[in-house]
Parts: sequence; structure tokens; C-alpha cells
Amino acid sequence: MKSSPRMFPIERRIPTPREIVSYLNEYVIGQDHAKRVMATSAYHHLKRCALPKAKKKRLKKSNVLLWGPTGCGKTYLAQKLAEFLQIPFAITDATDYTQVGYHGKDVELMVAELLLKSHHSVEEAQKGIVFIDEIDKIASRSQGNQATGFRDIGGEGVQQALLKMLEGREMMIPTNLSQQWNKQELVQIDTSDILFIAAGTFSGMKRSDQFASVGFSFKEETQLKKIMDTQDFLQFGLIAELLGRLPIRIALQPLTEDQLVHILLDPPDSLVKEYQYLLELDDVCLQFEESALRQIAKKAQQKGAGARGLRALMEQVCQDVMFEAPERKGETLLIDESFVVHQLQ
Ligand code: ADP
Repeated sequence: MKSSPRMFPIERRIPTPREIVSYLNEYVIGQDHAKRVMATSAYHHLKRCALPKAKKKRLKKSNVLLWGPTGCGKTYLAQKLAEFLQIPFAITDATDYTQVGYHGKDVELMVAELLLKSHHSVEEAQKGIVFIDEIDKIASRSQGNQATGFRDIGGEGVQQALLKMLEGREMMIPTNLSQQWNKQELVQIDTSDILFIAAGTFSGMKRSDQFASVGFSFKEETQLKKIMDTQDFLQFGLIAELLGRLPIRIALQPLTEDQLVHILLDPPDSLVKEYQYLLELDDVCLQFEESALRQIAKKAQQKGAGARGLRALMEQVCQDVMFEAPERKGETLLIDESFVVHQLQ
């Protein structure tokens, strides 16, 4: 994230959904539907933020719920969105938080993280994005919890604690995360214009998009999907009030092997480009055969962590090359399929 002192200049024009998508396209592979919906809701969010208070009330806040398998780009998508819009972005993990009065973090600390990311500018923080990961893990009746009974009450308590913050209210937020709560200086922050993006895998939950029947009109189908979505999430154990405050629900797709190859290669910050740059510093030219990248993608898919597994695999593949690089100045090293297979054995 760029850390200019004024991260969201008032005079800056709000980019259109198409402009947002075109930036996201440079980085995020696939997930076309998610990119479009996210861009549109971010656009509406910024438009709403720019309205005077009286008019603002007429528009409902459009917090987002992203769901899809691990490593398919939920966090990355939100992060790149914040980067493009030049607004502060904080990633938090729902499982670190507890309901008021219990041991653990209070939900106010989510906003404190955002304040930290906005270099203590209250004004900037009030326009930022808080990403709440693992929202499915605080669902009171989620699969994992059913077996152990663990977190049944705690989970619902955190959901309750989140309600007012998501909807928008004045909150007293500690300014220094490293100090003890009781020694804190507090600052008042209004969360009305903070965009909350909750995300989770909701594994085991059926995808209603596969159930939308043929034979319905588009409108009927969309409505049907929405109703089914809501019921699915309720059944999973999210409380209705929380769901109501996360009205934009977006399903992300699992990544294909092809897409994983593109992720390795295409984005400006891709792993291949990163490793090439690293070796360039030693005056070594690093090249990959396509079949080599495909092997890495295959392995990542076997591991089932989506694109998240790619970095560790790449590290494993390039370990020896990096060790030797300083002794091989001026050379071109080609990573082929058999080398990858050997390194990953
Ligand atoms: P999750 O869906 O679990 O939040 P992340 O967004 O954290 O997954 O993905 C982990 C990493 O994998 C990202 O930082 C990014 O580098 C890469 N990645 C995941 N999905 C994509 C994608 N669709 N396009 C490009 N890179 C991706």
C-alpha cells in the first residue's frame, strides 16, 4: 500500500466500476464475476461516502461477504481494490476476537488496526476497508463446531459484537495497539463510511449457483439465488442480523490449473517476476519452461490450498538455484519440467 500522507484526496475523481475492474484485471486472475460486483459495490460505497450526511441516510451501506475456497483470491482482491482506491486497508481474523467481557480482543481493535494503517489519521481511517477473514469460523453451527461444540456461544457473541460496528456508529478506539488496554488513549471514530469485507470458505456449504434451475427468468433466478444464499448462510450459523449487514454476497470460484500457471506468470508482482528480479541482482537470467510452471501448478492443486501453496513450492524449486546464483554471474538458467519434478520430490 502506498503511504502518501493524504491517501484519499478529496479532489480525486471516483473511478468507475470499469476502471476498477481494469486495474484488478492486471493482478487478479479469473474471478471475473467477483471483480465486477466488488468494483460496483466499491464505486457505490465511495459515491455514498461523498454525499452529505442527510442524503447518505437514503442509501444502505454495502458491506461485502466473500466466500470461496482457500487461496482463490478473496484477500488479494480486497487488497488490490484498496490499493487502487488509495484507501487504508486492514486485515483481521474473526477468530482472534471475542464477545465483550471475554478473554481475547474486542472488535474495536479491528478499527484500531485500520487507524494504524492510516498513520493515525482518523479522517483516512473513517474511509478505509476492514477485511474480516474466517468469518465462517465464528458461525455458531458451522461444521467444525458441530462436532466439538466449541465456540458455539463465543462465535455468536462475536457476531453480535460486530453488528453495530458494521452498520456504522461512533466508537472509542485505542490509538496504540501495543499498549495495555487500560493505559490506552482513545479516539472517537465513526464507522459509517468504513467498508467491511467479511470472507470465509464456508466449506461444506452447497453452492446455490449450481442449484439455480434452468427455466427461470434472469430476474427470478437472481432472486431465487439470493433467498437460497441467505438460507444457506443461516443454516451454516451466521445470524440473520449479521447477514443483513453484509448485503453484497459474492461467490469466488476454485482456481484451475491453467489459472494457477497464469498467476505464477502474469501479474506485475507474480512469483516468476519476483524470482527473476532476485536473480537479476546477481546478474543471473532465470527462465522457466511452461511445462515447469504447469508442474508447480499441478502440485499446488494437489495440496488444495489454491494459489496460497505456490510460494512455498516456488521456494522449494528455486532453493539450489538461489544458493548458487552468486557463483554464476552472467549465466542464463532454464528451469524445466524434470528439474521441478526433481526438486519437489
Ligand atoms: P484467500 O482466498 O484464502 O483469501 P488469498 O487472496 O490470500 O486467498 O491468496 C493468497 C495469495 O495467492 C495472494 O496473495 C496472491 O498472491 C495469490 N492469489 C490468490 N488468488 C489469486 C488470483 N485469483 N489471482 C492472482 N493471484 C492470486
